[in-house]
Amino acid sequence: MTSRSILRALGAALLIGALSGCQHTQEYNETFLVFGTLVDVTIYDDDPNRAAAAMETARADFNYMQRTWHAWKPSALYRINQLIPSGAEFSAGPSILPLIERSQTLSVQSHGLFNPAIGRLIALWGFQSDDLPNTPPPQDAIRALVAQHPAMADLQVKGLRLRSSNPAVQLDFGAFAKGYGIDLVIERLRALGIENLIVNAGGDLRAIGRHGERPWRIGIRNPRGEGVIASVDIQGDESVFTSGDYERYFDYEGTRYHHIIDPRTGYPARGTTSVTVIHSDGADADAAATALFVAGPTQWREIAKSMGVDKVMLIDDQGVVHMTPAMAERIHMQIKPVPTIRISPLE
Ligand code: ADP
Ligand code: MG
Repeated sequence: MTSRSILRALGAALLIGALSGCQHTQEYNETFLVFGTLVDVTIYDDDPNRAAAAMETARADFNYMQRTWHAWKPSALYRINQLIPSGAEFSAGPSILPLIERSQTLSVQSHGLFNPAIGRLIALWGFQSDDLPNTPPPQDAIRALVAQHPAMADLQVKGLRLRSSNPAVQLDFGAFAKGYGIDLVIERLRALGIENLIVNAGGDLRAIGRHGERPWRIGIRNPRGEGVIASVDIQGDESVFTSGDYERYFDYEGTRYHHIIDPRTGYPARGTTSVTVIHSDGADADAAATALFVAGPTQWREIAKSMGVDKVMLIDDQGVVHMTPAMAERIHMQIKPVPTIRISPLE
């Protein structure tokens, strides 16, 4: 081989090396079964190794949360629920304490409408079980539990120690764990250097960064019918959470009984079919969607203001779409005919 051909061969090898080293942004996608739903993680990144490490982290963290925060199967939370009725102080699983403290604040801000202490009511209705119930529980049993006023404020946290002054408290973070868990996973993946990412738990999601050159487009399900009622484009760091009466419900003698319970009555909240909240973090958005669903068409503005969320859409049981001006700027209605829309500021 002449020195010239060696140089040429070397040049070609260098070129191939440069091409294979030139990494393009790619989409990486995985789905995990957590919190009873499929959680879809999509990462856009130019480093396959970093993306793979991030996916492994997401999988491990979601599995950990799923195991630890289960209210009705042996877990750290289950143990707490078993110890609460004793009235004594005990050491609680440390990963649960931030969940308790954060939801204490949110519960106060929601005027008690977001109330993860009503686990006994949820269990009485049977919404915690894999199989849906088919009849409402006896009215007396519901009344008896409501009269005991279980509240997050009944719990006192001191370091690792926990105590409840109300034996009727049972924790169920079903309205909140998804949002809080998504926040934790996003924080971890950001620390690994991931900048473009969406974590989508069946339409409840948080996205950071961008989807290539486009923002992320999110569809909001029509609570009465097929397909989407509206869409929003999100970019930067935002969460979109929806609570709806179509997620888990049964019909009994012509009435729909669904899984979002009004802690004041002990019955499924009336007057609303779905609430969507756009907010920076997932935990607040998840808690707010549930609380505003309970608040209903007459009270949602007051509670939204108190919880510090300003992008809200509530669809009432007459099909009227209520929203804040900040939400109206972001939302694109997708169904025809366009429903009645009422835009009103938060007092
Ligand atoms: P989804 O889980 O379908 O997205 P939500 O976030 O609204 O819907 O959570 C509903 C779940 O939260 C119920 O299945 C129940 O476990 C729990 N829950 C029901 N009512 C309340 C309430 N008023 N406050 C807190 N948690 C609630
Ligand atoms: Mg919620």
